[in-house]
Amino acid sequence: MRHTRSHTKNRRSHHALKAPALAVCANCGASHRPHHMCLECGFYKGRQVMDLAAKKQAREARLQAKKAMITAQNQQVAPSEAEEVSAAPVGEATDEKKSE
Ligand SMILES: [Zn+2]
Repeated sequence: MRHTRSHTKNRRSHHALKAPALAVCANCGASHRPHHMCLECGFYKGRQVMDLAAKKQAREARLQAKKAMITAQNQQVAPSEAEEVSAAPVGEATDEKKSE
């Protein structure tokens, strides 16, 4: 059944977005969601509930370990290919030097 424009607009009158309500952190002054931990410093109700600095350090260490693992894997794959390509020219060069 067809909806009138009025009916559609009446339904959509409740669809407007509201700005999120934010509270100010008592510890660092950053704005955070009310009744939630401050995401900048990890404090809630004047008490540290999460050590965000340690979490950040652990995360960076984890990412570095992953990067190191990836580079190690690439180096394991790459030298075998590089040796095959570079071995012949190097050998020829050394032979020429020896003959001279
Ligand atoms: Zn804070």
